[in-house]
Amino acid sequence: MKTKTTQSPTLAARYIANGELVAFPTETVYGLGANIFNEDAIKKIFEAKGRPSDNPLIAHIADLSQLNSITSEIPPVAKKLIEEFFPGPLTLVLPKHKTVPAIATAGLNTIGVRMPSHPIAQQLLRACGVPLVAPSANLSGRPSPTTWQAVREDLSGRIACILQGNQTKVGLESTVVDCTGDKPRVLRAGGVTLEQLQAVVPETELAAHDDSSAPKSPGTKYRHYSPHAQVFVANFPQHIVPGNEAAFIGIDPPSPVEAFQKTLLCKDIAEYAHSLFQFFRECDDAGIKTIYCQAVSESGLGLALMDRIRRAAHE
Ligand code: AMP
Ligand code: MG
Repeated sequence: MKTKTTQSPTLAARYIANGELVAFPTETVYGLGANIFNEDAIKKIFEAKGRPSDNPLIAHIADLSQLNSITSEIPPVAKKLIEEFFPGPLTLVLPKHKTVPAIATAGLNTIGVRMPSHPIAQQLLRACGVPLVAPSANLSGRPSPTTWQAVREDLSGRIACILQGNQTKVGLESTVVDCTGDKPRVLRAGGVTLEQLQAVVPETELAAHDDSSAPKSPGTKYRHYSPHAQVFVANFPQHIVPGNEAAFIGIDPPSPVEAFQKTLLCKDIAEYAHSLFQFFRECDDAGIKTIYCQAVSESGLGLALMDRIRRAAHE
C-alpha cells in the first residue's frame, strides 16, 4: 500500500470514510485513527501496528456531544474531570455504549475516551463526523512517535495516510484514569499530573500494580517504548562510566561529557518528556548501544516520564 502524506484534514477524513487508517498529530503523540463504528477498519489498526488484540484502544472525540454515542453513563466524578481537563491529555475509562464494536475495547465493557486539544486533531475529528479509535501510531513495542517522520519510519506502506503536523508538544501519552469505581484511579501516568487531578477530585489515587481488584489497563503489561539500544536509569549523571557508543539525556550534564557520543540536556522536566521518544529514535539511527537517562523526581510530569524510562529500561 502506498502511504499518502498530506496537510489536509479534509482529505485525511476521506480515507477514514473509506474504512482506511490515518495517522494524525495530537498534543501527546501521533495517533493512528479508524472510524470507531467500523469493525474492519479497527482490525487494520491491530494488523498495521502488530498490536496484541487484548490491548484496548482509546476513543477520540471532537466535542462532548459525541460522548453519548460511545458511553452508556458518565459518573459524576468523570463530569468534574471532563469539565476541568477536556480537551487535553487525559483519557477517562467509562462504561461503554453497546454500539461500539467489542474489538475496539478488547472485549471490555468499558471504553477509554479522550478529547485532544490539538487543532489538527480537532479538524480531522470534525471532518470525520464520528469518533476515532486511535492508539499511538508506532509499531508495537517501539517508542511512540512524536513527529510525522517517526510515523513514516514505522508505518509507511502499512497505512493509507499520514496527516502531517509539527513535533507533538507533551511527547508522552495521555493519563488514563478509570472512572468506573468508587474513586478515580490512575491506570497510566501521563500528560495530566496526579497533583492536577487531585486538585479537582482529592480522592484520586494511583492504581497499585499488584492490586487485583483494580480494573486492568491491559496495555500496561506490555513491553513499551523501547529503542534498540539498551536503556539505563542514571541516578547520578556525574558518576556514569559509559562504554563506547553511549548517549545521555537528562537535565544535568554528565561528566565527562566527551565520553558520550550523543547528549541532550533539557532545561526542565517538560522539555525532557517532550524530547525523550524522539531522542530514543535518533539514538537508534546513530547506532548508539546504550542510553543513560537521568532519573528525576517522580512528582508532577516526572511520574509519567520515569514510568516511560523504566519501561524502556525493562525495570
Ligand atoms: P496507547 O493508545 O497505545 O497509548 O494505549 C492505550 C492505553 O490505554 C493502554 O495502556 C490501554 O490498556 C489503556 N486503555 C484503553 N482503554 C482502556 C479500558 N477500557 N480500560 C482500561 N485501560 C484502557
Ligand atoms: Mg501505544
